[in-house]
Amino acid sequence: MKKFFLLILFSAATFLATGCGSITAPEPEREYVIVVHGGAGEMGEQADDPDIAGRYYAALDTALNIGREVLDGGGDGTEAVRAVIRYFESNPLFNAGVGATISAEGYFELDAAIMEGRDLSAGAVAGVRHVKHPIDAAYAVKTASPHVMLSGTGADRFAQEQGLETVEDNSYFATPKTMKWVKEFQAKSRKNGTVGCVVLDSEGNLTAGTSTGGMFGKKWDRIGDAPVIGAGTYADNEGVAVSCTGHGEYFIRHSVAFNLNARCKFLGESLEEAAHHIIFNELNREEGNGGLIAVDRHGNIAMPFNCSGMYRGYLYKEKGSGRIVEAYGISDRMIEKQ
Ligand code: ASP
Repeated sequence: MKKFFLLILFSAATFLATGCGSITAPEPEREYVIVVHGGAGEMGEQADDPDIAGRYYAALDTALNIGREVLDGGGDGTEAVRAVIRYFESNPLFNAGVGATISAEGYFELDAAIMEGRDLSAGAVAGVRHVKHPIDAAYAVKTASPHVMLSGTGADRFAQEQGLETVEDNSYFATPKTMKWVKEFQAKSRKNGTVGCVVLDSEGNLTAGTSTGGMFGKKWDRIGDAPVIGAGTYADNEGVAVSCTGHGEYFIRHSVAFNLNARCKFLGESLEEAAHHIIFNELNREEGNGGLIAVDRHGNIAMPFNCSGMYRGYLYKEKGSGRIVEAYGISDRMIEKQ
């Protein structure tokens, strides 16, 4: 009888300790997984014009391979996320860093966040105007401050004090394309998007990072979902790493990133099922359009979006064989490379 009680006690403790009742959770078969996005939205001609699409494919391919080099070189998932996002922030094709969209007052105000699933540590900056790489500022908030989110001039000052690269002139982030839109703009929303990267590394750590210029024509120091931990960015080693893109107000209201983590971790839903539910059932109800990329602790990947396209891609290395599998796409199409 005593033995029976001990068995029950042991089973209950195992159930609680492993979470979601996933006692027989399989070991990941992937040594590492990198997933990236370069923003979601209405793609228009971009998806059909082979020249334009080609430029995005090339950039997604470069981003994935930057992450791969970091991981193959012995770096961890957080280093890979930072390197990938720094690349996107330097590439004028994307709405992050150089190429960021512009506010109604004519400024480039950048948001970014990074979170590590091993200890739930996180850092974010919102509305910075002078930090060359907002993702580095977010990382500095996480590692060198007692806070999680800094905003505006304080965040810029903090980045400078940390010795990060800053630019005096806010128009450093401008591109001819952005300025053309400013001239054409009257109430039409143009060039939203965001960049993001999530990684499961070979130690089983999950990291998520997101960086954006926000929504075109945003007013009054508006802050989007990207730097809000649990809305646009989240990572938990017992759940998922996720980075979102889309109409930020809705992603904040639905706590999309934490919501996804909670559905997987506490309800035991598969990543695919949970991500699909949030993007197509919850967000659609209020017309919040966009998408997300996510990877779970087993190396499963989800990349759903409810608009016409999302720049996205993944790359993973298989355990044992060391085979690398890569795929990227803009609209429904995915281009596979092995
Ligand atoms: N989510 C971003 C924001 O609302 C914009 C985007 O991803 O399109 O700031």
